[in-house]
Amino acid sequence: MRIYTHNACTRHDPGPGHAERPLRLVAVTEALRDAFAGLDWREAPRASRGQLLRVHDDALLALVLDTPVDGPMALDPDTVLAPGSAEAALRAAGAGIAAVDSILHGDTRRAFCAVRPPGHHATGTAAMGFCLFNNIAVAAAHACDKHGLPRVAVVDFDVHHGNGTQAIFDTDPRVMYLSSHQMPLYPDTGYANERGIGNVLNAPLPPGCGSPEFRRTWRERLLPTLESFRPQLLFISAGFDAHRNDPLAQLELDADDFRWLTTELVAIAARHAHGRIVSMLEGGYDLAALRECSVAHVGALLDTDEA
Ligand SMILES: [Zn+2]
Repeated sequence: MRIYTHNACTRHDPGPGHAERPLRLVAVTEALRDAFAGLDWREAPRASRGQLLRVHDDALLALVLDTPVDGPMALDPDTVLAPGSAEAALRAAGAGIAAVDSILHGDTRRAFCAVRPPGHHATGTAAMGFCLFNNIAVAAAHACDKHGLPRVAVVDFDVHHGNGTQAIFDTDPRVMYLSSHQMPLYPDTGYANERGIGNVLNAPLPPGCGSPEFRRTWRERLLPTLESFRPQLLFISAGFDAHRNDPLAQLELDADDFRWLTTELVAIAARHAHGRIVSMLEGGYDLAALRECSVAHVGALLDTDEA
C-alpha cells in the first residue's frame, strides 16, 4: 500500500492559532511511520493545470497559483493563502492523481494521501473552509476522464459536509457522493433532500450522536446504496474530526469507529472494485486523535491488502 505525501504540504501556514496547521500533517505521517513498517512512501507530484481545470475554473487557479503573497492573506474568515500555499495545494491535488494512476496501472491496490490543505469544501469556483483545491474531486475526475471509469464513488466521513465535492459532481452520473456529517454545522449543506441526479446521499447526524447511531446510519443507509452503485474505484474523504476529542465538532466517535467503517468500505471495494481505494486526508484537529484515527484507518486499509 502506498502513502503519498510531500514536505511542501507542511509549508502551507495559515498563521498562528489556525486549526488547520502544519503540525496536523506531521502528526499523521509520524504516527504512520511509527505504526507500520511496510508502507510504500512516495513523494506526491504536482497536479497540472489541466488536471485541476477538470473541476475548477481559471479564476480559482489564478487566485491560488498566481497571486503574489508575501504573508498570510485571508480568502474568507477560515481560508488563508500564504507563501507556501500554492505549492502545497499543487502537491495535495497531485497526490490523488498519482494514487489513481498507480492503482489503475496495477502497481498497488490502495493508497492513502497524507496531504494538506484539505479539499472537500472547495467548489468549482471558490476556495473555502480551509480548502484551496478539491483534491478528492480532482482525483475522481481524473479516474473518469483519463482512465474512462464509468462508475466511481466518493465516500466522505469527515464531520463536515463536503459541499464542494457534492456541487462538482451532483449532475455527473459517473460519480456517486455519500456523506455522513454533523448538522447543524459548517457549511450548512448536506440536507437529506439534496440528492443530485440520484447520485448524492447525505446522512446528517445530530451533535452527540456517538458510535451506535453513526454505525447504524452507515450500515442501514449509506453502505447499501454504495453497494448497489457498484463503484469501480472507491475514493474516501478521510476526515477524523468526528472524533470525540475534536475541538470543531461534537459527533463523539472513537478511532474504532473509523476502523470499523474503513473495513466495511474495503469489503465493498473487494466485491466491486478489485479492492481499489484512494483515501485522502481531510479534517481532524486534535493531534492525538488524528494520530490514533489515521493509524486505525490505514491499518484497516492495510489489513486486507494483498497487493
Ligand atoms: Zn471537517
